[in-house]
Amino acid sequence: MFLQRFKLGFHFLWMSLILPISILAHPPRLHRQGLQQQDPFRQLDEVYPTPNAQRLSSGDVGEGYWQQKVDYQIKVVLDDQNQKLSGEAVIVYHNESPHALNYLWIQLDQNHFDHHSLANQSRTDHPVQEPLSYGELRELKISLTGTGYQVKSLKDQQQRDLPYTIVDTMMRIDLATPLKSKEKLQFSMSWAYQIGNAKEQWGRSGYEVLTKAPENRKIYEIAQFFPRLAAYTDVYGWQNKAFLGNGEFTLEFGDYLVEIDVPSHHIVAATGELINANEVLTLAQQQRLESAKHADQPQFVVKPEEAKANEIKKEEGRKIWKFKANQVRDFAFASSSTFIWDAWGYHNDNGLVMAMSFYPNDAEPLWSRYSTHAIVHTLEVYEDFTFSYPYPVAISVNGPVGGMEYPMICFNGPRPEDDGTYAKDTKYGLISVVIHEVGHFFFPMIVNSDERQWTWMDEGINTFLQFQAERSWENHYPHGDGEPKQIVDYMKSSNQVPIMTQSDSLVQFGNNAYAKPATALSILRESIMGESVFDHAFKTYANRWKFKRPYPADFFRTMEDASAVDLDWFWRAWFYSITPVDIELSNITRLFLKTLNPNIDKNREKEEKNQQPISLIKQRDQHKQKRIDRYPHLSDFYNRYDELDITYGDLKQYEEMIKELKPWERELLNTDGFFYVITLKNIGGTISHLPLEITYQDGSQELRRIPPEVWRKNAEEISLFWILKKELKSLRLDPYLETADINLSNNHYPREILKTQFELQKRSRPKNAMKQALDDAKSKEEDAKKKEEDAKKKEEDAKKNLSPNAPISPP
Ligand SMILES: [Zn+2]
Repeated sequence: MFLQRFKLGFHFLWMSLILPISILAHPPRLHRQGLQQQDPFRQLDEVYPTPNAQRLSSGDVGEGYWQQKVDYQIKVVLDDQNQKLSGEAVIVYHNESPHALNYLWIQLDQNHFDHHSLANQSRTDHPVQEPLSYGELRELKISLTGTGYQVKSLKDQQQRDLPYTIVDTMMRIDLATPLKSKEKLQFSMSWAYQIGNAKEQWGRSGYEVLTKAPENRKIYEIAQFFPRLAAYTDVYGWQNKAFLGNGEFTLEFGDYLVEIDVPSHHIVAATGELINANEVLTLAQQQRLESAKHADQPQFVVKPEEAKANEIKKEEGRKIWKFKANQVRDFAFASSSTFIWDAWGYHNDNGLVMAMSFYPNDAEPLWSRYSTHAIVHTLEVYEDFTFSYPYPVAISVNGPVGGMEYPMICFNGPRPEDDGTYAKDTKYGLISVVIHEVGHFFFPMIVNSDERQWTWMDEGINTFLQFQAERSWENHYPHGDGEPKQIVDYMKSSNQVPIMTQSDSLVQFGNNAYAKPATALSILRESIMGESVFDHAFKTYANRWKFKRPYPADFFRTMEDASAVDLDWFWRAWFYSITPVDIELSNITRLFLKTLNPNIDKNREKEEKNQQPISLIKQRDQHKQKRIDRYPHLSDFYNRYDELDITYGDLKQYEEMIKELKPWERELLNTDGFFYVITLKNIGGTISHLPLEITYQDGSQELRRIPPEVWRKNAEEISLFWILKKELKSLRLDPYLETADINLSNNHYPREILKTQFELQKRSRPKNAMKQALDDAKSKEEDAKKKEEDAKKKEEDAKKNLSPNAPISPP
């Protein structure tokens, strides 16, 4: 029946509209490795630890959360003649856990330097073809000569010896009776160790002999210098994995009172508040420190000329510097006769923070210009992302350690040339390292993650925030990590492990634990979640876990809990796997809507038919004589008939169909627009949001952002159906480099010609050993002659009664 045919016709029309939508959902294809493709959005419950009373499924701290507390009273003596440190500590261990403890574990980190240490014994060689570099030579020195802790005594509160066993960098103290829940234990220990030369052996602390005159000026940067309790946690029990060098420290919060006995001409900087300034500073210095509290820029407490006078003094007597620090997880200090000291009061919601820098004249003019400013800048930016900095001081010290963090104090290496000029890298290296290390005052010194296990939780998160601080220092700041395009080379590299790998097993350490998580968080903030949603969730994490110990799931869960954004796919891709983003813009198909008006549809089909290429064979046949040419009567109706000709029947059928349509159906038929199906393939393995820049035929542009959920039915290939107002000319994926796509050559449709540079290289001549031998003989002869002349001259000078050792006055 006509009506029926009519309905069929309409159905056909409708099909043409829904056809592209059906393209959107390809049936899942078999994975390249022959495995059934897995849903990238499947939740991480299979991987996360089961939530419990300590750590909730929301990522928040549970009502059953507990952590230990350890208080220290420490007295140390710095022997500047022999570079030796000796100390005694009274330690009070508060067992806040619900468990009784039969033994305690103490970290003796200096044992890492012992040439018998697990770290030294398990060091693997670099490939033999690589020449030994300076860094490796330093490792070699430790392997040959290093020594560790010398434990002198370990006693309980009644001064009875406590039995102990040392296992590499860990020491177990056996308790006569178990330490019950909510009980505390006091014990004391005395010890000594040889301070390492941090310029000769790599370390997070040590001393340095400055190279410029006057001679024998030293800077001590002292850390891991006392027996630190290992952490006992609800997740791992004792975190007593040996210190192998990469996985840093897992520590408990506590209150410290530390007395540091140094030569009287030394200036000391330390974690915490100086509580006896009146005993160690001159009256003028005390007044300068006081006036710096409300100054509008950094002020000298010890001036450059005072430091110059100090550093040439010989040791005459001793001074004891006393520091108090509450609720910190560690303690470090620096001591030197060379220190200039500047200070600047920073006022926040918690009150006054003294931002201070300590450095020798050798570090000028760089340090007085940038260090303390960088400290205050870091506090401002990090507070925006987290909470008010809760400690009274924030200190940056220049010395032998390139960059290392402790509570309230950090050690930073960059220094200008001997003549005071400095390279661009040195300047920005200093600003960035100060931002980074002061940033660590927040992560992990306050948000106390387990560094021994998860380096990314402090380094990655901190590098992400460092990037934010650099962004707001000045325009065009030469950034370290955070821009997605900067991670591309690493993501392309073959030697990778997931971010979620224990610290000491990481390969490509800096890229893995710093750059990749920083970049991932940057992408999350800028592209996936948006600034305000991200910032609220991140701030929630920081505030939930400050002065507590978060683990990865606490972070992952909080970021979702506080944002309502499903991020399991993101954590899975960026933290649990190594696959990169490489999305291919495969093809674009333009669709034409059938109007069912034969005047339009048939004419268009005719036009398309005429545009079809003529095959080679048809071209060859075109001018050959055929049978029908010889016998024209063989030609009939079908030789003249064209099925694309518009017939009276076609027109009548169309008219009747239009009459039957409802107004909205008629409108739909007249939709004017340009229809496209855009096909994208996930080549890299990690799904991504899709920023797509449309360029229209008229030259205008538009950016569309497609959320990552577009991959939820098929993570390998998708098609988008677009109705555009104007005709499409080209499409570019990720035009502003926000996805870390490792291959941009497949991001444009139609494809673009790739550009690269090449240069002509001259071949170098092969080495001429014969010529080298002649040159060597000649220079040997010249050296011998010069030596002879020098000796002769010395003899003549002696004859003239001139002392060769007398200082020569400048002309
Ligand atoms: Zn760091």
